[in-house]
Amino acid sequence: MADMETLVSLCKRRGFIFQSSEIYGGLASSWDYGPLGVELRRNIRALWWRDVVQLRRDVVGLEAAILMHARVWQTSGHLERFTDPMVDCRECKRRFRADQLDEQPWTHYCPAKKDNKFVIPGAEPCKHCGARRALCPECGKGELTEPRQFNLMLKTFLGPVEDEAAVTYLRPETAQGMFVNFDNVLQAVRRKLPFGIAQVGKSFRNEITPGNFIFRTREFEQMEMEFFVNPLDTVDGQPADEYWHEFWIQERFAWYQRYGIRGENLRLREHPKEELSHYSKRTVDIEYRFPMGWSELEGIANRTDYDLKAHAAATGKSLTYYDEERKTHVVPYVVEPAGGVDRSLLAFLADAHHAEEVRGEKRVVLRFHPEIAPVKIAVLPLLRNREEIVREAWAIRDALARRWTAVYDDTAAIGRLYRRQDEVGTPYCVTVDVRTVGDLAKGEAGDRRVTIRDRDSMGQIRVPVVELEPVFAELLGGGAWSVVAARYPAQAAASG
Ligand code: ATP
Repeated sequence: MADMETLVSLCKRRGFIFQSSEIYGGLASSWDYGPLGVELRRNIRALWWRDVVQLRRDVVGLEAAILMHARVWQTSGHLERFTDPMVDCRECKRRFRADQLDEQPWTHYCPAKKDNKFVIPGAEPCKHCGARRALCPECGKGELTEPRQFNLMLKTFLGPVEDEAAVTYLRPETAQGMFVNFDNVLQAVRRKLPFGIAQVGKSFRNEITPGNFIFRTREFEQMEMEFFVNPLDTVDGQPADEYWHEFWIQERFAWYQRYGIRGENLRLREHPKEELSHYSKRTVDIEYRFPMGWSELEGIANRTDYDLKAHAAATGKSLTYYDEERKTHVVPYVVEPAGGVDRSLLAFLADAHHAEEVRGEKRVVLRFHPEIAPVKIAVLPLLRNREEIVREAWAIRDALARRWTAVYDDTAAIGRLYRRQDEVGTPYCVTVDVRTVGDLAKGEAGDRRVTIRDRDSMGQIRVPVVELEPVFAELLGGGAWSVVAARYPAQAAASG
């Protein structure tokens, strides 16, 4: 798998992701998505929305405001408990998360050596003197303070007066929007339990140690769904909340694989009791083998009735569901799959990245699933100074662009253009050449056929222009290249 540096540099060079405010020296751990990054994000969001909301009969959507009443965060427990333990270095003044100190490399001035400054991998002792880290991991000199709890919410003021009454927070999760709107949605859609409310949107956390590219940032986008179940129900002999929790763990685990992530790079991790959030009965993380190691991609929690009960108690509003059969009001239990757009993007990118050798040359290819790929089709003229070819190529690109993300490129020779599309994961290229348009001067008519090249096999076929749309509908709709290719004459791969 590619290391993080390779991914960061590819992302910058090809316009996926840029450092935020770069011309001002950059804002640490803040990233801007460029032309290809935007398409990739849109695809991830759209697939999640389609699979978690639109294709299901029991889930509806919501878009709540990022700014919510400050009391929401008091009730949810975030004001008091959404904290990480933090320590400061008394010398260099840097801050660290106390619970992550052993994960990072540490600087050591070894008393047993002359040339004695070493950087030692996290949690390992010094090879020479056997000492373990006791001081600041960064400068290697300062003592660390005792851990203090640091609240991760980003505080802000609403209105012109910056006093306590004006304080509110940028939401640290989208979930609370669903809880406070539970009754609004229930009254509006009249669903029977179980049903879910889903939301995709930005969240903010003042992380003490952001990093690892877009893995941990202070501004990020979540894809969350609160699935409300009747705690009095059972499914297959199991309490309904436990059945649905397991269902969503399996469903979300399968989702990442459906769109191309290899199973061997995914695993489930059960939270031990002492790690559970204050609201959780059971939480299972889906972890991905990121370039820096196994880390959380998505968490699926059984939040019980904690949030609805807490909001009902704080507001005096009833947040219950009337169980017609049992003639009683119940407070639903909630199962929550909570993933991140940015972390998924990093996982899709890392998993797709392959460097291979083709006829003695290095080829970098992003083997994105077609539905994830930012660009689906690139239309390339073989000769950019032949007007008929250029005109035809643009016409094809414009026609295809009505259904799929399609680009035109004529800025290099064809072999180079193919490599560039491989590197950004475009599944198919269409090449227009002299044979397509013919040669008026010589009185030759074109054959009105173009070459389609497949990214993964690099196979090429000759397809009539009028058949491009049905062919791409088949290929981009999940049809196999080998099946389609068997129907058309192959084109010798002269350059690519
Ligand atoms: P972590 O333990 O990595 O801080 P978490 O358990 O606090 O994550 P959740 O509260 O479960 O995360 O949030 C759900 C999802 O939101 C995460 O799985 C991740 O995909 C995304 N997410 C959370 N925090 C961040 C962040 N700082 N940057 C990017 N994505 C994040």
